[in-house]
Amino acid sequence: MPAIVVIGAGVSGLTCALELSKNKDNVVTVVAKHMPGDYDIEYTSPWAGANVLPMSLKDGNRWEKQSWPELSRLAAEVPEAGIHFQKSRVLRREKDVADPTRNSPLSDGLFLTDPWFATMFPDFRELSSDELPKGKGIHSGCEFTSVCINTMVYLPWLVGQCARRGVVFKRANLSHISEAASLSHTGKPADIIVNASGLLACKLGGVMDSKVYPTRGQVVVVRNEATPGMLCTSGNDDGDDQLVYVMQRAVGGGTILGGTYQKGNWETNPDPNIALKIMRRVVEAMPELTGGKGIEGLDIIRHGVGLRPGREGGVRIEKEKIDGIWVVHNYGHAGWGYQGSYGCAEGVVELVDEIVGGGQVKAKL
Ligand code: FAD
Repeated sequence: MPAIVVIGAGVSGLTCALELSKNKDNVVTVVAKHMPGDYDIEYTSPWAGANVLPMSLKDGNRWEKQSWPELSRLAAEVPEAGIHFQKSRVLRREKDVADPTRNSPLSDGLFLTDPWFATMFPDFRELSSDELPKGKGIHSGCEFTSVCINTMVYLPWLVGQCARRGVVFKRANLSHISEAASLSHTGKPADIIVNASGLLACKLGGVMDSKVYPTRGQVVVVRNEATPGMLCTSGNDDGDDQLVYVMQRAVGGGTILGGTYQKGNWETNPDPNIALKIMRRVVEAMPELTGGKGIEGLDIIRHGVGLRPGREGGVRIEKEKIDGIWVVHNYGHAGWGYQGSYGCAEGVVELVDEIVGGGQVKAKL
């Protein structure tokens, strides 16, 4: 039975641990500096919205496409997971369509017309011109039913699902990835390490991935209900690193107003000027949020900042031998760690099975 140590208890590590533990042959230990319940700038997952708004282009959509069936199943069948369905509107501004380089988000697959996910969401449709907001420079848009995840409920739920399947959790702050090998609860050295260390992959000894960088996301969490559903626009006039999105979390998690996408920015504190701009942009895009009372009508729960784990060249899902032990990497998910979580975990399981099935581990057992 291969002993597997997963580094990381964010959405990436927990989903990998859960999927690996479904194979009764695997003995899984999760080792993490931060766990669900902690709020720390080094730990991204609790800060996410989080919803499913696909960002990949058709080539490279595997992670997101393979995650949707499980996330939508959880929304439909497992209310205690803290995921619910929400109608979602994606609006493309005239300015961004005329000059796609103007605001970087337009290069996302999300804002394309006729995107690959038009067939993934059963009720996907383009909005007719009379459904578009008037006088706001909106060129076009689409609508579909997606999901929004209450991360405060979902992350502990994942821990519970893992524990039910025998996964053991340990707290540790590793200086070097090889230290994980001695932390399997079996008492024997681990056969395989899964590295889901998120942004800290740039600081973890033995990995020190210099391609990993933070993309700062500032949000405002409010009690107001986003009755029309989720909304996201292709750009705004406040800058290329600013975003406009709204989503209402499941089971009382509040409504997230976003946001920012500030590459290379490690600033941990919410900036009050940015917060004001976020609130103004969102209320302008969705006046129903405050019943026409403007931003004074917002009932703020808290301001927050999370650092998305960006990576030049994209996510790293591959195997590598470090100090004689197989490591399967799964980090660098930027702003799509939840919506790609099950697809990426599937990729990790395949690599682990390759290592085990290829005899590399069996030879040692
Ligand atoms: P993390 O959550 O950071 O977890 C890393 C884990 O590794 C932690 O447990 C940490 O303690 C552990 N670790 C690291 N180094 C060590 C070490 N040396 N020793 C021990 N343990 C270690 N994604 C979506 O899909 N949809 C969204 O709507 C969305 N919205 C977002 C909005 C904001 C504002 C932000 C900030 C992010 C958003 N994201 C969204 C992105 C998503 O949150 C991330 O992609 C995801 O959380 C990354 O998860 P992770 O498990 O890889 O990393």
